Amino acid sequence: MEKLGIAIIGGGPAGLAAGIYAARGGAKVKLFEELFPGGQIVKTHRVENYPGFTGGPDGYALAAALEKHASEFELPVIYGSVTDLKLTEKEKTFTVNGEEYAADAVILCMGAGPRKLGHPEEDKFVGAGVSYCATCDGNFYRGRDVAVVGGGDTAVSDALYLAGLCRQVYLIHRRDQFRAAATLVDRVKRAENVELVLDATVVGLSGEDRLSAVTVENKFTKEQRELSVGGLFVAVGILPRTELVQGQLDLDEGGFIVTDKYMQTSVPGVFAAGDIRNTPLRQVVTACADGAVAATKAIEYVGMK
Ligand SMILES: Cc1cc2nc3c(=O)[nH]c(=O)nc-3n(C[C@H](O)[C@H](O)[C@H](O)COP(=O)(O)OP(=O)(O)OC[C@H]3O[C@@H](n4cnc5c(N)ncnc54)[C@H](O)[C@@H]3O)c2cc1C
Repeated sequence: MEKLGIAIIGGGPAGLAAGIYAARGGAKVKLFEELFPGGQIVKTHRVENYPGFTGGPDGYALAAALEKHASEFELPVIYGSVTDLKLTEKEKTFTVNGEEYAADAVILCMGAGPRKLGHPEEDKFVGAGVSYCATCDGNFYRGRDVAVVGGGDTAVSDALYLAGLCRQVYLIHRRDQFRAAATLVDRVKRAENVELVLDATVVGLSGEDRLSAVTVENKFTKEQRELSVGGLFVAVGILPRTELVQGQLDLDEGGFIVTDKYMQTSVPGVFAAGDIRNTPLRQVVTACADGAVAATKAIEYVGMK
């Protein structure tokens, strides 16, 4: 069994930032990634809001820059899926590609993914009209008509955010009451260019190469209506990749790992960074910042052992 000082699980922005800080800080560290470096950002064609990267680099370019930066500090990256993760104060062990590892500290950076709408045509339009991130992609729909689907804080905030950029926003929700905070709901009801499409579900997505219309159906009357929109922002929830830590760490009601401001979880020596934790903003900039804090604190923790 190989013994590490710090093991980082997940090679998205949080994991790579943690790796840069840990390797540069002289830790005996390895990063484990099951697919490719960059995580979710490789799914987006432009990242316009990561400070310092002007011109909106594509997701691959930003992922490659993060990976290159980590390799400058000789961060070892092992490609393979982490399994059998056991996390206690005394022992932190896991398996990758059949090899067993132990570490004094573990930084969990497995990220999250958007909950999908579940429509059969959805995948066809991802990146071609269907988006899961208004903050990321809203600007591409400036001046156009779009729809948002969902009824929580994210959906209502997304509708308000898009109302500032787009000509017309339809907010589609399957109930007649929103789960979002009352202040947000008040604001969205007052927004002149937001139409609430309530008690409605999305039953059709259409378009040639790109999405051009969304069909909604009233769940009581069964009446259908076609909304001509170039974008559909799906905000029906986000699913954290916490399957490995279920029952081992404190999670919040959404299933995200609970951390303190040092990214420390409920088990000493186990840190979590980025989209997988209970953070108010899930973006590259916050994931990188979390990774930096987690690595700094993990180095401190290992040094005190
Ligand atoms: C379509 C889209 C567009 C976006 N656009 C923007 C944008 O423009 N600007 C912005 O700031 N943010 C954007 N985001 C959000 C941003 O991508 C995330 O906030 C960020 O990637 C989170 O980083 P992370 O490292 O926490 O997690 P992730 O990026 O999710 O990375 C987690 C990594 O962990 C790996 N992993 C998971 N489980 C295991 C395991 N068991 N073993 C090994 N590896 C594992 C995964 O393969 C993945 O590479 C976008 C997201 C999406 C989906």
